[in-house]
Amino acid sequence: MKNIFSIPRNELEEYFININDKKFRATQIYEFLYKKRIYNVNDMNNIGKNIKEKLKQDFDFSFIKLKLKQEDVNVKKYLFELSDGNYIESVLMYHDYGISICVSSQVGCNMGCAFCESGRLKKVRNLEAYEIVQQIILIEEDIKARISHVVVMGIGEPFDNYDNIMNFIRIINDPKGIDIGARHITVSTCGIVPKIYEFAKDFSQVNLAISLHAPNDKLRNQIMPISKAYNLNELMNSIKHYIKTTNRRVTFEYIMLENINDSEDNAKELSKLLKNLNCYVNLIPYNETENIGFKRTKKVQILAFYDILKKNGINVTIRKEFGSKVDAACGQLRANQN
Ligand code: SAH
Repeated sequence: MKNIFSIPRNELEEYFININDKKFRATQIYEFLYKKRIYNVNDMNNIGKNIKEKLKQDFDFSFIKLKLKQEDVNVKKYLFELSDGNYIESVLMYHDYGISICVSSQVGCNMGCAFCESGRLKKVRNLEAYEIVQQIILIEEDIKARISHVVVMGIGEPFDNYDNIMNFIRIINDPKGIDIGARHITVSTCGIVPKIYEFAKDFSQVNLAISLHAPNDKLRNQIMPISKAYNLNELMNSIKHYIKTTNRRVTFEYIMLENINDSEDNAKELSKLLKNLNCYVNLIPYNETENIGFKRTKKVQILAFYDILKKNGINVTIRKEFGSKVDAACGQLRANQN
């Protein structure tokens, strides 16, 4: 039985047509769930008794469970338990431009990036759309405010769970659903090339971020196994295609790892790779974790790297840091509690 929060509105319309009811019922149900936040079918007035019974038979209305909340300045980290006992985390951030949430897309991750804590637990399974949608709903309930921005940058590789992510985006972007604007949604990938082409076709208004982290194949192969499946040339071609067809700017994330990818030569090579591309680079000071040996690049070196990109005409920012005290920062999310 599918969970109701996994169903995009057009699918729900088909359902109602198939049971000989009216198409508009789907919008009514959406408004109960996502606008009025009424989750118990019995409390949905204006819906006939028979339809209520049918809905209860055909859909699961259950929720993932909020287990733990940790707070730091302008950030909260949430641990959720899924119905099968697995755990995931999400992070809420208060910015000057609004409130954003970083959602997880899988339990564990198979991408095996050498520097990332989230991938130390291999992928257990994909999250279904409802398990991602409900991260937003439950956090909005907790903070009693609406979330304005969503980034799919928590645990997991979203393009290794494409269909569920697609439904998730449809539901949260739907004006009758959670109604978060496409331009306020960002999906981040380590570079699963065929899905970048699909994404350009399916979601031309949603932002794309690429975890790049190295300016050449040799280095990228050492820290990101995905690079052996799709090399930098293939990756850059897919990104150029995305930019050309969507007319949108791409974000490149580049973690600064001391003595690995942070030299001046690396900065020059990166500038060359991205020259004349409609993009910007987000330099991420690496968050060290106990279990992994990489070190964070020193501040002066990050600034030197930044200057070289700037001089070469690349748009670049240094990521504002959030949440490292509660292990809520990039790469620190885990799928278990040990
Ligand atoms: N799998 C997707 C989504 C995860 S996004 C992707 O790779 O883009 C999480 C981001 O945090 C990625 O850019 C990842 O490379 C980065 N990251 C991983 N470990 C980190 C760490 N310890 N410090 C800073 N950033 C890290």
